Order: sequence, then structure tokens, then C-alpha cells
Amino acid sequence: MPNTGRTWKTIVQDVVEKQPRVFHLADILQHADELAAEYPANRFVDAKIRQSLQVLRDQGVLRFLGAGRYERLDAQPAFSPFFDPSLAGGYTNRAQVARVLIETWAEMNLYCLHCTRDALARLPPNTPVADFACPSCDATYQLKAKDGRFGSLLIGAAYHTTLRAVREGKMPAHILVEFDRRRATVVYADGLPGALIDEARVIARRPLSLNARRAGWQGCNIDVSGLPSVAIVQPAGTDRTDARRHWRTLTTKP
Ligand SMILES: [Zn+2]
Repeated sequence: MPNTGRTWKTIVQDVVEKQPRVFHLADILQHADELAAEYPANRFVDAKIRQSLQVLRDQGVLRFLGAGRYERLDAQPAFSPFFDPSLAGGYTNRAQVARVLIETWAEMNLYCLHCTRDALARLPPNTPVADFACPSCDATYQLKAKDGRFGSLLIGAAYHTTLRAVREGKMPAHILVEFDRRRATVVYADGLPGALIDEARVIARRPLSLNARRAGWQGCNIDVSGLPSVAIVQPAGTDRTDARRHWRTLTTKP
């Protein structure tokens, strides 16, 4: 079975849905080989399954009965601002820590702003410009995460690749996630339509020096000052129907 772009949460949820109302952890773990086939590079299949079950519990989809037993509640998934800080255990670089913590959180929680799809699919790691796509409407998303607040400049991808995406009308929506690592929670997440990022907002950075590992590579900054965005997470949380309605007002041309 090839990698279909389904997230761990979706994969585990599909297995959970086929279980009787009350089931045992072992009933899910016996699907581990089958689940791992979608993510052959992942060595932590059991841990990913347990973590996905915890998220489904936090979201009210199931509850733990103790002694490895679970009950399905058949509820719609709710949003959780919390992430698992232990995922970043092996990393010291701040950018890597942000990426590891928030990519997993995004897999579990992000939904499409453009249509009613409740989960996004992660794109292959080398996909230029975008990180996630909606399997229903093909909207694409670029995730930016920071422990703290963003300023008006975001660090973008390669300059010419970004400029080409802008010119071809293919800039993905940008999801800006500001988190608090110490409290293991996302504080703010905002969605910003890609179409609002025009050429003037893509600012070339100096090419890397000849001594650098990727000598001559040129990145860019993206100026997002003054751009409107939709709140996905704020300290009180927002309703997704309202977020989608607000999103349409930003993305529908008059
Ligand atoms: Zn969609």
C-alpha cells in the first residue's frame, strides 16, 4: 500500500471506526503492519498509534475505559490547541523543534478553510512552497511555526521558486502558528490567503556565500505586514463555520 498522504490520525480513525463500540488497544495494534505500510520510513508505529488514540480521546471521538479498553463516542472531532512536547526530544535547533512539534499538531488538527474537509494531507517533503493540501478541493497550505510571535517578515523558500509561484497564481495559503513550547500549547494560528502575497512582498535575501554548504542558494523573506487573516486558534478558539465564512470574504474576488 503506497503512502496515500493520509495523516496518522485519519489512518487510526479509519481502523477505530471498524471496531465494535468497545474495543481493546491490542485490536488496533494488530493493524500496525498494515498501518506502517503507508509510512514505511516511520520506526515508531506503536507510539504513533497510541498518540493518535490520545488525540482522538482529546477530541471527544473516543474515551479510555482503563486497562487498554476504549469506547467509541462517534462524535465529530473537536479542535485541540495542545501538542506533545516530547516529540522534539532529540532536537536542539529551534527551527527544527518548531517544525517537528507543529507539523504533527497540524496533521492532527488543521482543516481546510476553503471547503468542508476536516483534515489536510501532508505533501511529500520536497514539494516546493507548500506543506499540506486538501484532498477534496486541492487548496494548498504552507505552515509557518514559531515559539513566540511573528514579526512582519516570514522566512520564505527559495526566491525564484517563490516568485514563480506568485506569478503563476500558485502561492499556497499560509498558516502562521505561534506556540508556547513551555506550556505545550498553540496560542494563535492564523490563515492568510496565498493570493494576497504579491511580487512586491517577496523580498530576495543575499545568496549564500561560496563557503556555505548550499553556496549560491538564494532564499527570500515574505512581507505580510498589514495583510488580513482568519483566526483558526486564538486563546478562546473560534468556530470553523465562522472561520470559513470569513475566509470566503478574503478569497472571493468581487
Ligand atoms: Zn478543501
